[in-house]
Amino acid sequence: MITIAFDGYSSCGKSTMARQLAATIGYTFVDTGAMYRAVTLLALRNGLFSADGKVNEPQLRSLLDKAVITQRSNPQSGQTETFLNGENVEGEIRTMEVSDRVSIVAALPFVRTEMVRQQQAMGQNGGIVMDGRDIGTTVFPNAEMKIFVTATPEVRAQRRYLELKGKGEDVTLEEVLRNLEERDYIDSHREVSPLRQAPDAVVLDNTNLTREEQSAMLLALYKLRSENIGVRSKGSKE
Ligand code: C5P
Repeated sequence: MITIAFDGYSSCGKSTMARQLAATIGYTFVDTGAMYRAVTLLALRNGLFSADGKVNEPQLRSLLDKAVITQRSNPQSGQTETFLNGENVEGEIRTMEVSDRVSIVAALPFVRTEMVRQQQAMGQNGGIVMDGRDIGTTVFPNAEMKIFVTATPEVRAQRRYLELKGKGEDVTLEEVLRNLEERDYIDSHREVSPLRQAPDAVVLDNTNLTREEQSAMLLALYKLRSENIGVRSKGSKE
């Protein structure tokens, strides 16, 4: 079993394609963005943001020490759901309120150290498809398969806008576009593990691709990478 890393910009459909690939090949799927979103919800619920948007770091650190963030697949919907201290927070972590703050929380070094530690523990035996911003560069730099997903900001904003509207959120397309651009900027410019394309990642620009086309490309690449590993491990035994 290999390790598969998906990275890329906000709302380019990474999670959907990573989850589908994991289901097809029988691997575990981990949405690391949901973990950072759960930490942000923890901070929001405890009133840890000041009026100027800064986070009370000592208090968040002590809450994070005791917090348990887990993900489970819902057998009925097939979707992955995120739990914060045993409570299903999947709906709450996807709101604009969380989206507006998450990149600030995710840039805090102690938050990243803890999330990366948990992610590495989840994937230590391979057989995992993990999606995020620093998976191929920091969490699993030796992953056998790395995908860097991108699409134009307008296409990404349109997709996220329709998704939020579908859930009944009162947002405008401009707000969604602004949020995506802000997050991409903070994620790419932070000091600790900024969003970067790993040099050995395959770039997938899905602006003009259908889901079926993406799935077929990913499956073909997975087969190729798995065969390479098979050949290499056979070679190393001899
Ligand atoms: O993937 P999603 O858009 O839900 O991620 C939310 C935010 O979490 C990102 O904008 C980024 O700030 C942060 N994140 C991160 N590192 C990851 C995954 C997400 O910094 N591996």
